[in-house]
Amino acid sequence: MAKGYDCMKCPGYCCSYPLIGLTKRDVERLAKHHDMSFKEARDKFTEEAHGRKYVMRRQKDEHFGKICRFFDTTARRCTIYEARPKVCRDYPNEDRCGYYDFLQFEREAQEDPEFIAVTNHK
Ligand code: SF4
Ligand code: SF4
Repeated sequence: MAKGYDCMKCPGYCCSYPLIGLTKRDVERLAKHHDMSFKEARDKFTEEAHGRKYVMRRQKDEHFGKICRFFDTTARRCTIYEARPKVCRDYPNEDRCGYYDFLQFEREAQEDPEFIAVTNHK
């Protein structure tokens, strides 16, 4: 069955989640991708937060406030797609994406295919 969402038409809401938790394996993958040691990658790309050892660092974003440090805030896409963490590979874990449904609804209602709907993470 075809996916019910299209990330290419989305401003990257899921990449703005406050907690993007990584595994040790994810940090190893990031290190390899950037030709760095594990410690360098851990220190540069992650921080300890929310009781987790490795949480993705974030950067400012005009639409969502903050977003993953690896997100291209102009092109609105992931810059490390091949090396992205498991949680990003798995999301949204089903054939539909709740945010995309919401976005499509708003775009149709506003008759604006470029509209970016901003919701706060709870
Ligand atoms: S919020 Fe949904 S549609 Fe948007 S990038 Fe993430 S998975 Fe794709
Ligand atoms: S690694 Fe890529 S897909 Fe995952 S949150 Fe960051 S920008 Fe989004």
